[in-house]
Amino acid sequence: MDLQVNNAIKELMGKNDVRITNQRKRVLEILIENKDKHISVEEIYSLSKKKGNVIALPTIYRTMDILERIGTVIKHDFGDGAAKYEFFMKEEENHHHLICEKCGKIIEISNALQDDLDERILNENGFLCEKKQLKIYGYCKECINVLNE
Ligand SMILES: [Zn+2]
Ligand SMILES: [Zn+2]
Repeated sequence: MDLQVNNAIKELMGKNDVRITNQRKRVLEILIENKDKHISVEEIYSLSKKKGNVIALPTIYRTMDILERIGTVIKHDFGDGAAKYEFFMKEEENHHHLICEKCGKIIEISNALQDDLDERILNENGFLCEKKQLKIYGYCKECINVLNE
């Protein structure tokens, strides 16, 4: 395993008081390798198989629960049947998702509007926003073209 990845994992687990096992490490490694994607437990499973070192499904599920609890992954429900996970470091900028209802494409958008929205919610509801995920449904560029034809 990449030394940098290895150190990142150690730091992350240590900071959150999570025991590092080889299996958890391997799950994290796959997540980090796919950090720009939204990936399901089944996909992690088949990737681990492809790497020649299969991780049992229950282990992956358990690991994802732990990682979600410590805020290292975000669990998404994009409405396509399987929960999708996304590796997320707190230091990184949060983002939101545009979901095409026709082809299922998921587009990430920055949270440029977030500060405004947070402030409005705080002013109007006295509610302090901690984290949020916006899911905006509609049609992507390609699908709009088809609809308009
Ligand atoms: Zn589309
Ligand atoms: Zn995302």
